[in-house]
Amino acid sequence: SQGYDPVSARQDFPILNQRVNGHQLVWLDNAATTQKPLSVINAISSFYERDNSNIHRGAHTLAARATDAFEGAREKLRRFIGAKEAAEIVFLRGTTEAINLVAQSYGAANIGAGDRIVVSTIEHHANIVPWQLLARKTGAELKAAPVNDRGEIILEDFEKLLTSRTKIVSVTHVANALGTINPVEEIIALAHARGILVLVDAAQSSPHLPIDVTALDADFLVLSGHKIYGPTGIGILYGKRALLDAMPPWQGGGHMIRDVTFEHTEFQGLPEKFEAGTPDISGAVGLGAAVDYLQSLGLSAIAAHEHALLEYVTPQLAEIRGLRIIGQAARKASVVSFVIDGHTAGDVARHLDRQGIAARSGHHCAQPSLRRFGVEETVRASFGLYNTFEDVDVLVRALHQLPRS
Ligand code: PMP
Repeated sequence: SQGYDPVSARQDFPILNQRVNGHQLVWLDNAATTQKPLSVINAISSFYERDNSNIHRGAHTLAARATDAFEGAREKLRRFIGAKEAAEIVFLRGTTEAINLVAQSYGAANIGAGDRIVVSTIEHHANIVPWQLLARKTGAELKAAPVNDRGEIILEDFEKLLTSRTKIVSVTHVANALGTINPVEEIIALAHARGILVLVDAAQSSPHLPIDVTALDADFLVLSGHKIYGPTGIGILYGKRALLDAMPPWQGGGHMIRDVTFEHTEFQGLPEKFEAGTPDISGAVGLGAAVDYLQSLGLSAIAAHEHALLEYVTPQLAEIRGLRIIGQAARKASVVSFVIDGHTAGDVARHLDRQGIAARSGHHCAQPSLRRFGVEETVRASFGLYNTFEDVDVLVRALHQLPRS
């Protein structure tokens, strides 16, 4: 890397420099959303201070600047995930919207009664519900590949779900509630061997692992800007050109058309075909700045540090009386989900908040995943690039001080 150091990176995030309930804020809710470096905040505010205009529709200078900024961000995202062409990057609101687009556009055109859609047991609701809606509408069936007691997909069982009727596999790269890193390379190889497409949900992997869609040979890959230190309300759908070209438009409106009469509309090509209406221009600019920021630190160095935090925290949590870690995959991102005997997850999270520690409690939008382990809720601490070993010490100390129930 170019000299990534979490302690100095932390200085790039103004929000972290505050006290909450009398204590220095410790942000351990990175799997829900990440904080934004000053460079992202500045990119957004300077866009509004100097360049703001709608895009693509003007001959004036600011329209050209705004268009260049928006398309420049698209190119940054292309490089970030290793896509061949910027036209394969569609700007959308985020992972949820991107999966809905694929389910509704690709799904409606290609998935019918009796066909099968395969996900895994440890998906976010965003990668379950859109497929369920499609299945209900079309008569297709939705199947979930099981996981073992460590929270790892059982590949032999996954493989058995791939039949001649299986049209698409949609799996998360990193499970948000458990932290499991799924073997997406093997999943893609198994699916492609049978001509089945694969969508990779990279919402949780993109902040932690370098991604290369070309090396992976993913058919679709989706991510959210706010999980990679960019703004909320912006994310991307990557799709192979041949697939996106063949898919019908999803939403209709301005910007996605070439010519409109009351009888007939001719659509734009990629990526505009899937970008109806005025997009989140400043959001894309902010996301481009987030990608620049991550690349300046180096994702491999970030991944190594976060892994060290995971290795540091896990045995210390295991020593806390009555604490059980949910999800113990051999390959994990820096997420620890746990329950503590005699305490609700909400009680634990409120106790942590009183010490300035932000950790999440609840089902993490992954109910089937937690139910696989017999729980409805966990406390989840998830680490980002600015977290330090000291943050872990603060967390562990606070958990030891949990009042006896
Ligand atoms: N998939 C995964 C694995 C996630 O962690 C999340 C966000 N928690 C989503 C999908 C949905 O992302 P968004 O809410 O940004 O659309």
